[in-house]
Amino acid sequence: MGVLALQGDVREHLAALTASGVTAAAVRRPEELAAVDGLVVPGGESTTMSKLAVLFGLMEPLRERVAAGLPVYGTCAGMILLAEKILDPRSGQETVGGIDMIVRRNAFGRQNESFEAAVEVAGVDGGPVEGVFIRAPWVESVGAGAEVLAEHAGHVVAVRQGNALATSFHPELTGDHRVHRLFTEMVRSVA
Ligand code: GLN
Repeated sequence: MGVLALQGDVREHLAALTASGVTAAAVRRPEELAAVDGLVVPGGESTTMSKLAVLFGLMEPLRERVAAGLPVYGTCAGMILLAEKILDPRSGQETVGGIDMIVRRNAFGRQNESFEAAVEVAGVDGGPVEGVFIRAPWVESVGAGAEVLAEHAGHVVAVRQGNALATSFHPELTGDHRVHRLFTEMVRSVA
């Protein structure tokens, strides 16, 4: 499995994947992307990540592989990258797409309004996960093909469409790997 390693909390995702029992490597180049069976798009800053993806020649290969069914999991900024549409994009900000949803960036407030909350996620057994929300987006609306997996305070914070999964929050920061295991199961069911 790969973690898109242009910017963001790459190391934490690599560690969470490794703890979930899969081999994980950083992806920075098209050849590395071509070699993975599943990809995590980490948290960080979505505009920067989008611009770096274009600069590194990864934006088109990412769009092609995700459209072809590559299992992909985006957290926070990664969720924004997987949205078909951003409500309030910054100039030059593009997305990979993959999930028919519209996201609102920084929807839960600024950095100092970051918070943690227990979130019940459909498909994750054993009680709620600790959701870490850092300048997190929420999902403003989802299309017919996308399934809502979790809500917090009346807003959609986890979505799945086919092989694509996205959360507003950061399970990679908690030591609880159940959401990563849900994703690795998705990868196994395809590979
Ligand atoms: N607000 C950030 C963005 O727009 C995302 C923050 C995060 O990934 N923790 O990309």
